[in-house]
Amino acid sequence: MVAGDTTTSVDLVVIGAGPGGYTAALRGARNGLEVLLVEKETVGGVCVNHGCIPAKALIHAAGFQKDIQHWNDIGIRTGNVDVDFQAVQAWKNDVIQRLSDDILQRLDNHGVAYREGTARFLDSNTISVARDDDVETVTYDSAIIATGSQPLEIPGLEFDHQGVISSREILQVQEVPDEIVVVGGGYIGMEAVTKFSKFGSHIKVVEARDRVLCMFEEEVVDSIQETSSELYDTEIYTSAWAKTVEYEDGTPVLVVEQDGEILRLSGDYIIVAAGRDTTSTLESLGLENTAVEMDSEGFVETDDRMQTTDENILCVGDAAGQPFLAHVAYREGDVAGGVAAGEDIAFDNEYIPAVMFTDPEVAVVGLTEAEVREEYGDTRIGIVPLSVSGRALSANKSAGYVKVVAAPDEQLLGVQIVAARASDMIAEATLALELDATLDDITSTIHAHPTFPEALADAAEAAQVGSIHPP
Ligand SMILES: Cc1cc2nc3c(=O)[nH]c(=O)nc-3n(C[C@H](O)[C@H](O)[C@H](O)COP(=O)(O)OP(=O)(O)OC[C@H]3O[C@@H](n4cnc5c(N)ncnc54)[C@H](O)[C@@H]3O)c2cc1C
Repeated sequence: MVAGDTTTSVDLVVIGAGPGGYTAALRGARNGLEVLLVEKETVGGVCVNHGCIPAKALIHAAGFQKDIQHWNDIGIRTGNVDVDFQAVQAWKNDVIQRLSDDILQRLDNHGVAYREGTARFLDSNTISVARDDDVETVTYDSAIIATGSQPLEIPGLEFDHQGVISSREILQVQEVPDEIVVVGGGYIGMEAVTKFSKFGSHIKVVEARDRVLCMFEEEVVDSIQETSSELYDTEIYTSAWAKTVEYEDGTPVLVVEQDGEILRLSGDYIIVAAGRDTTSTLESLGLENTAVEMDSEGFVETDDRMQTTDENILCVGDAAGQPFLAHVAYREGDVAGGVAAGEDIAFDNEYIPAVMFTDPEVAVVGLTEAEVREEYGDTRIGIVPLSVSGRALSANKSAGYVKVVAAPDEQLLGVQIVAARASDMIAEATLALELDATLDDITSTIHAHPTFPEALADAAEAAQVGSIHPP
C-alpha cells in the first residue's frame, strides 16, 4: 500500500455513513460546504443495514400468525400458511436496498462526494482513506467522526460466526432456527425474541440482572409479559451469568451459572446481545494524531455542539456516547453539520424518546411516576387502557395502556405507552414535553377520531380529573 496516491481537499470530511454521518454531510452541504463522506462498509450504517430497519422488517413479517388468527376469528378464512423464510429475507434485503439507494440519491442531489474506504486521522487537518491498495490523502477544515458501534464481545463468549453470533448475524439467517439462546435481556435481545418466537423458534434468554428490560419501569415490563404470548413461551433466566460456550455434537451449549448452580442451555445459535462497543473502531482511527480526548466512559468527549477537544473535529452518534439510538445520531449529525458550517446551534433537546418494538410496543419519554414523586413530592397521574379506544378495539390491538405523569401544577413531565402503535404515539408526547405543554394543552388539542393518539388526550384528562374510564 502506498501512502498518499492522491490528495483531495474539502471543507468538511465525515467519517461513517450511518444516521449521524450522512445527516451531518447533508446539513453541511446544504450550508454550501464542499463535503466528502467516507464509509468502509455500506451507506446507512448499522441502522439501515444491520439494526433498526432489518430488525423491524422481520418483526413486521413475524406478525403474520397473529394477524391470520385474527382474520379467521372474524370470518375471513385463510388456507394453509406456508412461510418461505428465504423470500422473507429477500424482501427485507430489498427494503434495505431501497433505503440505501435513497440515501445515496439524496447525497448526490446535495453534491456530497461519497467514498468507499477506511478513514484514519494523520493529523488534525488530514485523514487517509484506504481502499484495497489505494490510499487517498484528504485535507479538510472540519471533520466529523460518526463511526458508530459494534456488538460487544464478551470474554468466554467470543463470536465464532457459526454457533455464537451477534445481533447482526441473526438478522441474516436463511432458515428459522428451532432453538435460540439469547444472552442479554435488553431491547435488542428482546426484539429478537419478538420476531423469532413468532416465526416458531423456542427461545431462552439469559440476563445477569434480576429482570429483563431494566431500562424500562417494572410495570411496563409486567404489562408486556402479561399480554405477550411469545414472552410467555420464552424461558427467561434472570440473575444468571453466561460463562462460556461449549460444543456438543456440533451444537453450541451455553454454560450459565444461576443461584450457585450450573445450567447448560443449547440452541442452534447463541446470540450475544449484551451491549455495544465503540472502542475497537475508535482505537484504529488514529485519534492519537489529533487533540481528540476520550471521556471517563471511553467515548469521544464532546460538548453540546458536538465539538471534541480538537477544534477541527466534531463527533456524533454512538461514538459520542449513550444513548445508542438512531434518532439521537440523526439530531447530533444535524447539529454537527450546521456547526461545521458556522451555524450557531447546539444539541439542546431535553427529551429523548425510547421505543421497543415488542408486541405490544413500548415507548417512553420524560420522567416516570417514581422520578416525579421524588422530585416534586406529589404527582398527577392519568392511565387509560387501550381497551376503551374505539380505534384500538376495531383494529384488534387493544392490549396496553397510556400513562401520563404531570407535576401537581399540571405541567406535563412524562408519558409511558404500551400499545400496538406506541412508537408512533410517542411523537406527540415528545413534542408536548419539548414545548413545555400542560395537561390542558393536550386535552384542548383536537385529536382526530377514531385514532390511537386519542388515548393520550384521555390519559391527560384522567390526570386532571381522575379516572375517566372504569378500570
Ligand atoms: C439490532 C439493532 C436494532 C436497533 N434498533 C434501533 C431502533 O429501533 N431505533 C433506534 O433508534 N436505534 C436502534 N438501533 C441503534 C442504531 O442502529 C444506532 O444507534 C445507530 O445506527 C447509530 O448511528 P451512527 O451514525 O452513530 O453509527 P452507525 O450506524 O453504527 O454507522 C457508523 C458507520 O461508520 C462506518 N465506519 C466506522 N469506522 C470507519 C472508518 N474508520 N472509516 C470509514 N467508515 C467507518 C461503519 O462501517 C458504519 O457504517 C439498533 C441497533 C441494533 C444493533
